[in-house]
Amino acid sequence: MKGKEKKEEIYQCLNCGWTSVIREEETPPDHCPNCLCSIHNDDEEGNECGGILEPVGIWVRSEKEWEIIQRCRFCGEMITTPATEHDNRIKILSIASKPISSPPFPIERIEEMTRIMGGSTDKGEI
Ligand SMILES: [Zn+2]
Ligand SMILES: [Zn+2]
Repeated sequence: MKGKEKKEEIYQCLNCGWTSVIREEETPPDHCPNCLCSIHNDDEEGNECGGILEPVGIWVRSEKEWEIIQRCRFCGEMITTPATEHDNRIKILSIASKPISSPPFPIERIEEMTRIMGGSTDKGEI
């Protein structure tokens, strides 16, 4: 006689290949705990998308509630997904600090820009 078979599902991340066994009583993660990507099932109109949702930012809702902002690589829709205790903290922090570590403009220019903006009144008299 065969024993009761355990229903186990394998969750595999299509982005980084991370796999995890999901036991029957568990719900599969809605995003990959390793790379924080997930699959965009449907877009706003309910059309199937299938694009990869990449983490683009972290929203600190409250001290204990962090949400990952994901953007679909395919259709560009942005969604949020709550961060979980299983998520890769280093990855979360690297996303959160991205604008600081690599701003979209050269940092040296901030000084120049403030000088230009603040300087306009000084040059008022020619
Ligand atoms: Zn992944
Ligand atoms: Zn999409």
